[in-house]
Amino acid sequence: MIGRQNFDFEEQLIFEHGSKGRSGVDLPECAESQAAAIKVLGKHLRTEEDQAQLAECSEPEVNRHYTRLSRWNFSIDTNSYPLGSCTMKYNPRINEWAARLPGFAQLHPYLPESRLENAKALIEELRAYLGEIGGFEAVSLQPAAGAQGEFTGMLMIRKALEARGESRHKVLVPASAHGTNPATAAFLGYRAVTVATGSDGLIDMEDFEAKLDEDCAAIMITNPNTLGLFEKNISEVCEKVHAVGGFVYGDGANLNALMGISRPGDWGIDVMHFNLHKTFTTPHGGGGPGGGAVGVCKELAPFLPDSGEQSIGRVRSFWGNFGMMIRAYAYIREMGAGGLKKASERAVLNANYIKAKLKKAFDLPYETDCLHEVVFSDWKQQKHGVSTMDMAKGLIDRGVHPPTIYFPLIVHGALMIEPTETESKEELDALCEAFLEVAKEGPERLRLSPFHTALSRLDEAGAARNPILVFKKE
Ligand SMILES: *Cc1c(COP(=O)(O)O)cnc(C)c1O
Repeated sequence: MIGRQNFDFEEQLIFEHGSKGRSGVDLPECAESQAAAIKVLGKHLRTEEDQAQLAECSEPEVNRHYTRLSRWNFSIDTNSYPLGSCTMKYNPRINEWAARLPGFAQLHPYLPESRLENAKALIEELRAYLGEIGGFEAVSLQPAAGAQGEFTGMLMIRKALEARGESRHKVLVPASAHGTNPATAAFLGYRAVTVATGSDGLIDMEDFEAKLDEDCAAIMITNPNTLGLFEKNISEVCEKVHAVGGFVYGDGANLNALMGISRPGDWGIDVMHFNLHKTFTTPHGGGGPGGGAVGVCKELAPFLPDSGEQSIGRVRSFWGNFGMMIRAYAYIREMGAGGLKKASERAVLNANYIKAKLKKAFDLPYETDCLHEVVFSDWKQQKHGVSTMDMAKGLIDRGVHPPTIYFPLIVHGALMIEPTETESKEELDALCEAFLEVAKEGPERLRLSPFHTALSRLDEAGAARNPILVFKKE
């Protein structure tokens, strides 16, 4: 069994800690400035009563409160986190060291460019590294996440078509696509048209050719796709889309399978986003900052957010999430070209190890060799009344974050497992042990799990819509 999370705390709100007048810092008296403020603002000065109602706590109270809350989080620093398509790999501490160097951390984004020389040099070098890794002519680091990278890339495609005097209405999206792909297409006013997946888990070429025509602005394609399989017809797909004047958008979220092995730009992809918070080990948000750099081919380079006259314009304030760029840069420099290639090879090896250990216990809908993730279905367990949801909840009791579930949609009760290269063999064995346990556990107990969390099964949709943030144990 992997170490369990401790979810047993009860915790008051920060406002319920402390007492009036208590403070963690000693500030000098400000009688003079108060008098000056009264002179200028008169009766418009805020009174004691309508001051902002801030918590009044000592430093230990604040520190303990937030440290306790942080221990409620399931994180990559405490347990393995095999969330398919999300590449939850360990965030090396050297990245944090680099990002906290005062010369970077204390830069103000409004500083004149002449004072930002070193930061700009890092940005330029990172753009060049990503261009080299992906096989692209130019890169912008502005987008803050993968989905915003998609939006940026599709805006460039639209602008490039406009520059040719064309307006097109369709975007092809394979059935195995991430939900953000059709959402991006729709957001830009395109009609997202689904291309079927064949029995081998790859694009159905007949269906693709039937739907491809001169009204197609682009195809948005993830490779390896969300079944973890390499689209081996990718170059043919690119050629055919180019032949009708369309563009190929590559969703690069799964680049962790390919670094140093194969380059999307070389297949014929015109524009692709990188997820710095997946492939390049920067932390995954919790709503915080990410990085969705976009790389483009020569034809699209003039339209980049940081290009000249033909640019689509800025998509992010200042320079983007600079702290994430420092971390990604530190990771690339730390690994070197050979290290990045090894990371991808091990990510693929780890996924195939899991596939081999679990394929007797779970139904494997696509036999094709997988890359960095493997997708099972719940067909075998369904027969005894156990669903993917039950197994996911059972995994929580075993100290494992559930994998991505019910995605991709083309797999019944999908369990999509991505171990990443940063898990050791012992960790993978423990992970598989947990999966094997829930695969054979009967429905009576599994349907009531998790048992080891403060709350068990929530109404998840209801909880998201009506979050009651004060937690009181009965
Ligand atoms: C994560 C992911 C995205 C979206 O990236 P965000 O950074 O979460 O916006 C898009 N496509 C695929 C395949 C992904 O895995």
